Amino acid sequence: MSDGPDIATVLASVLADDGGSMTPPIVQTSLFAFDNYAAFEARMAGDTDTAIYTRVQNPTVAAFEGLMAQAEEGEAAVGFASGMAAISSTLLAFVKPGDRIACIEHAYPDTYRFFERMLRPFGVQIDYHPARAFEDDPDLLNGVAIAYLESPSSVVFTPMNLARVAEHATRHGTVTMIDNSWASPVFQRPLTLGIDIVLHSASKYISGHSDTVAGVVVSSHAHIARIRDLTLPLLGAKLAPFEAFLLTRGLRTLKVRMMQHQATADLFVDRLAAVPQVRRINSPGANAVPGLTGRSGLMSIEFDDTVDIPAFADAFTHFRLGVSWGGFESLVLPARVALAQAGEHNSLQAFGVSPNLVRLNLGLEDPEDLWADFESALSASLT
Ligand SMILES: *Cc1c(COP(=O)(O)O)cnc(C)c1O
Repeated sequence: MSDGPDIATVLASVLADDGGSMTPPIVQTSLFAFDNYAAFEARMAGDTDTAIYTRVQNPTVAAFEGLMAQAEEGEAAVGFASGMAAISSTLLAFVKPGDRIACIEHAYPDTYRFFERMLRPFGVQIDYHPARAFEDDPDLLNGVAIAYLESPSSVVFTPMNLARVAEHATRHGTVTMIDNSWASPVFQRPLTLGIDIVLHSASKYISGHSDTVAGVVVSSHAHIARIRDLTLPLLGAKLAPFEAFLLTRGLRTLKVRMMQHQATADLFVDRLAAVPQVRRINSPGANAVPGLTGRSGLMSIEFDDTVDIPAFADAFTHFRLGVSWGGFESLVLPARVALAQAGEHNSLQAFGVSPNLVRLNLGLEDPEDLWADFESALSASLT
């Protein structure tokens, strides 16, 4: 990632006159009026490219999209109302009945539900494979329309060699998509490794402050044009100007925040290795796979049976209990809460996640305060 998003350049490209503003104005309008009939007709005919209606185009949103394209080294980007809107709108722009999708095991739980509850009933076949199979089996993607990837995966954070998977995919004509929310463009830029489409829940590190829900897709001009032509206007899950403003603000501090998340995560990984109750630490760091250059603050650990997990969860003072991640505040999410989630197609149940697994979102508080909190919660929970 370049040292700082070049806000001035991006603003100048989307706003006729930014008036010297350091930040994008929030262009809070539904429609954009035309000066005369000829301009209106020319725009509708596609001869010009000015904004018509905020469902598909808005300057504040375009400023954020321009910065994301730059951060991920893509040609273009499109914002959405949530990470799930970005994921579902992208999949629906590329899939058709009868297609086969190969998906990573331990995909984000609602992505798994989208496959099982919405795409499968429409005649799409979905198979789930471990990261290893995507890397090592050169024929896994034979006849597969879409490879849906996360590296690292959700829940157990298994990383994969994306460049190798992209090579296999190219040979089979498979479109590759990756959810890059965990690493952010600071630690991994999948397009530079040969992946076709990058998806983000911008609700996490890109926003960085637990104050917005949003999503974004970055890819080539052609792929983004297809999404803009089909699912952005027709499903209509657009990014709002105010959310885009918050995300632009988040991007300015993304790199320094990621460095601090990494420092705290490194400290935890070092010290967790000496904790006797910890059976396994799931936290890939720099160079765990080629192209991954850092460790984010989201990890999971598996305890042995001596830890009373509900008591552990209740014993923290800094860490709060909750879903989501990527903001200032540290959070604990015990897998057994997710395993208990009501409703069909629970991915943690489907992929056999241990009830002794706990996810930690290490935030931006003092690392020593966080470690002291972890240690005292653990000692309060030993049975
Ligand atoms: C949160 C999350 C999503 C979904 O994003 P929303 O903004 O909540 O819709 C997708 N993928 C991953 C890895 C996530 O953590």
